[in-house]
Order: sequence, then C-alpha cells, then structure tokens
Amino acid sequence: MIFKEFDFKEARKKLLGKKLCDRCLGRQFTQLFQGHENAVIGKAIREKETEKQVEKLLEEKDLKGTEGCKYCDKLFQKEDEAVEKAIDVTENIEFHNFLVGVRVPKKIENKEEKLWEEAGANHCEPIKKDLKRNIGKKIAEKTGKEAEFKRPEIVFLFKFTEDEVKLDLNINSMFIYGEYQKNVRDLPQTKWYCRKCHGKGCDYCNYKGKMYEESVEELIAPEIVKASGGEEEKFHGAGREDIDTKQLGWRPFTIEVMEPIRRDLDFQELAEETNKKAENKVKVRKLRPSSKKEMQFLKKVKMDKTYRIKIDCEKEPEKEQLRELEKKLDHRTLSQKTPTRVAHRRADKVRKREVRHVECKKDGKGFTMEVKTESGTYIKELVTGNEERTHPSVSGILGIKCTPEQLDVIKVHKRKFNAGNN
Ligand SMILES: [Zn+2]
Ligand SMILES: [Zn+2]
Repeated sequence: MIFKEFDFKEARKKLLGKKLCDRCLGRQFTQLFQGHENAVIGKAIREKETEKQVEKLLEEKDLKGTEGCKYCDKLFQKEDEAVEKAIDVTENIEFHNFLVGVRVPKKIENKEEKLWEEAGANHCEPIKKDLKRNIGKKIAEKTGKEAEFKRPEIVFLFKFTEDEVKLDLNINSMFIYGEYQKNVRDLPQTKWYCRKCHGKGCDYCNYKGKMYEESVEELIAPEIVKASGGEEEKFHGAGREDIDTKQLGWRPFTIEVMEPIRRDLDFQELAEETNKKAENKVKVRKLRPSSKKEMQFLKKVKMDKTYRIKIDCEKEPEKEQLRELEKKLDHRTLSQKTPTRVAHRRADKVRKREVRHVECKKDGKGFTMEVKTESGTYIKELVTGNEERTHPSVSGILGIKCTPEQLDVIKVHKRKFNAGNN
C-alpha cells in the first residue's frame, strides 16, 4: 500500500458515504481525538467538517452517538451483555487483575479491511480493539479490578458470533513460595507414580498406584489446594535431596495451583495447619505469594549445600588423618564421573564440582563430616570414591574404605530472587 498524506476532509467525505454508525465512523479517527468515546467522535464528525471544528465540538458538548450498522453488525449492542457475563462468571472467584480477549466473525473483519482499503486506516481503531478496550474498561469499573496485560490472573475470552456472545474464562495458575524441612528418611520430594501402572493401581504397587505412600509434596500441598479451591497442583522444588536423606536446613519450593478461585490466603494459618497434619515428618515456613518467574528462578538457580554425613570406616582413622583430610578437601575441585547408581538414567560424563569447606569429628569407629559443596556434587561418591570415578575422595585420601551411613542436608545456601533482573 502507498501512504499518501492524510486528508481529514477527504477521509470524512468518503466515510460519510458508507452509512456507518457513529461508533464505526468515530473509530476510524480514534487516534486523532483521544480521550473521547468512538460513538461520540463519530457524532461530532458527522456534524462538523474540519478537524478543528470537531475538536471544539467534542470539548464543548456532551454528545451521544449511535451504535449499529452493517460494518459492526450490531456487535456493540452486545457489549453490555458481555460485561454482565464476565461479572456473573467471576462472582465467586477471587482475582485482582484480568485481561480481555475478543473474537469477532471473520465476515466483519473482512468488511472492515475493505473499508480501510478505500478510505485509509491512518487513525483507526479496529473493531476488536474497540470492543476489547471498552469491555475491559466496563469490567474494571464494575469490579474495581485492574486490567493487566503481562501476567493477568484471569483471562476473559469473548467470542462474538452473529447472534450471541460466548465467554470462555481462563483462570491462570497461582504460585506460592515456601521453604520445607524433611525430618524423616525414605520420603520422596514429589508424588511418585508406580513405574508399572503409572497410577492406575496394580500388583506391583499393591493397588496404590504409587511407589511411596507419601511425599513432601503430598504432605504440603493438600491444605494449600483446599484453601485456594484449586483443581490441581504442581510442586517445584529448588533442587531435591535423595529419598533417604533428611532435609534439616530449609529448602525453598513453589507450589503452582491450577485454576484457584481464592488467592488471598491466610498463609500463616496455612503453614500452621500443614505442620499440624504433617506430624513433624515435614515442616513448612515462609509461605507467601510467588510468581512463575520466581518458580523458574528457583528451579534453575545453583545453591551451595552443607551436608552432615555419618561415615563408617573399615579401619578407625587417626585424628591427624582427619585434619589432613580437611586440608586436602578444602576448596578442592572434584572430578566426578556419573555415579554407577544413576548411570542407567543419566549420560556418562565428568562433572567438576568444588568442595568449599570440610570439618570432621571423630564418632565411634568412624567420623562425622560436615561439608559445604557446590550445587550438583555427588556426595555419596565423594565419600566412597565410587571405584575411582570420583577423584579425590574421602576413601582415597584416607586410604581407608569409607561408607556413608547417614546423610542429611543441614543448610541450603539460598540465593536471592530479584524480580526486576530475572
Ligand atoms: Zn457500526
Ligand atoms: Zn502399579
């Protein structure tokens, strides 16, 4: 298309011949007369000939324009019905902001495009945009909620057909942040479906459908789902500990609740209720609203961890040997080939991970080691050496065969989430 100089008078004249309603006429000039409704702009344009005169009339008089012609197919007359539907459907839903989407019959869009070809589209507002904006404005006025374009809590999708308007409501997920402790062993972090029947129930899983009776997820999520009236949830841990490892330091997580109908939850009470029901197997704290961005950050972020490991030794080590071990492992970079125990599900490669700090204490025939390591270190292999696949290792340095008896995470060294930068 070739753009020629816009001529108001000429465009006006062409459009007046088209038998548009005031709102359709007005929305061909929306951007010229901002701050006025399209129907009112149309009415003024019909009465005055120049841009200046129209402007003046708009400032001076309270006009009311007509709605409904062959170009809009009287869709505008269904606008209030659409707004009412939105109010009705969200009557029992808690939300703070929303987004409006609109679909109109293809026929109408085609007519509109033809009109632009003839009369130009320099300052126009397409019918979809007009409807979206005005419906959004009315919903905001009636509900007191805000329009939100980037991350709306709910989305109203209006489908205008020739004789009705349908509404699809999308309730977006709600994210909740928290931190947990796991005070028992043999508890997976998330629900673990039976590997044979995938949840249906079979001989192998004793008709439970699951590999483990419970999980951190199943001990934490139900109260939150119940309180929010949501449909389902997804548990996103900031990393995970082994099933047989206690998590004594607080580990961050987010819970994503699908289709929540309540968002303003009493998080203090929720934590108390959850802790009571979990009977100290799991504890939660710091529950608060979160976001998808923070969830993604927590899943990706690398956090150092401090472990306490009770180590069994084939031969009792001397105190001197333990001091030597501390020195040799401090700030040492380990080279770890994928452990044989996970080799069946992970690629065989070499990882470099740093041991930040080590402290050992004699304990019976063996000793207890507190070790702070970089995220992703294979801790059991750091102790055993896994047949030289991890180097150096505790067994290797001491020259004594060592076995980890008990492993606990005692601190997750948290990294701060900055909503602005992420
Ligand atoms: Zn019209
Ligand atoms: Zn099964």
